Amino acid sequence: MPDPIPTTRLPFGPSSDRAVPVIGQGTWHMGENKKSFADEAKSLRHGLDLGMTLIDTAEMYADGGAERVVAEAVRGRRDDAFIVSKVLPSNASREGTIKACEASLKRLATDRIDLYLLHWRGRYRLSETVEAFEALKTAGKIGSWGVSNFDTDDMEELAGVPDGGHVAANQVLYNLARRGVEHDLLPQSRTAGIPVMAYSPLDEGRLLRHPDLVHIAKAHQATVAQIALAFLLRNPGVIVIPKTGMPERVRENRGSTAIRLTTDDLDLLDKAFPAPAAKVPLEMI
Ligand code: NDP
Repeated sequence: MPDPIPTTRLPFGPSSDRAVPVIGQGTWHMGENKKSFADEAKSLRHGLDLGMTLIDTAEMYADGGAERVVAEAVRGRRDDAFIVSKVLPSNASREGTIKACEASLKRLATDRIDLYLLHWRGRYRLSETVEAFEALKTAGKIGSWGVSNFDTDDMEELAGVPDGGHVAANQVLYNLARRGVEHDLLPQSRTAGIPVMAYSPLDEGRLLRHPDLVHIAKAHQATVAQIALAFLLRNPGVIVIPKTGMPERVRENRGSTAIRLTTDDLDLLDKAFPAPAAKVPLEMI
């Protein structure tokens, strides 16, 4: 295995005591099928063994099924994992957020979620959700809280809400084919010291056959997935969370932290996937 995975720290909450690896594991679509439950848990455990200790899940995924897979993966080794889960906007009232968190804790078979996110903005006022997050933090049920799918103006609005400045992460769509965040959200987050978690870093697998990526991968004796992840990991403060249910692919994704892209690689990637020249409203899946 290559060098240890670089780590970062969340800016707020008790979870800021933990070093968080810059490559974790996604779980969307896990827990949808009983037959693959054990294999998915095994794959996540393999990632834990390799140091990909951040596991990203949500109450939404498989209607709680993904959280149950995570529970199985971390059984007997809870302290090895840094669990991220998310509340649905439709549950994100003051009381609803607390209830949703408690239901997630039950499914995760744990007494705390290390980072709890608002999945995307909905009809409830941000101040209500933040109040619930702060109460959950005080109760020790979550370590830190953050948001997901928040654009720059959402982040500014959040900063103006009581305790809104305690936001510890923003999870957004970011991959080579969706580089909009590079124009403004990434610089804004870096200035504020807020880590950005890049979701769908492989564009849900769509990037994997791109000829320019294949060319660069060959030159590095690497795989396309590794190059696509290495591109995102160049950014300080960015955490990637690729999802795979296959242990050999977990290992492969883990290897991306050792890859250093050259100036020629980056020029070729800029031609194939141009950086945004102006503001692009944040896309979401
Ligand atoms: P990814 O970009 O991580 O791509 C996942 C797909 O790529 C799967 O089909 C997987 O297949 C395949 N894959 C993974 N690694 C490899 C590899 N090394 N070689 C070949 N194929 C590979 O997409 P996701 O949308 O799953 O995003 C990652 C995570 O981000 C999610 O699982 C979820 O936790 C989070 N997310 C958050 C959102 C939000 O709104 N906050 C929205 C979407 C995602 P296989 O499993 O068969 O290996």
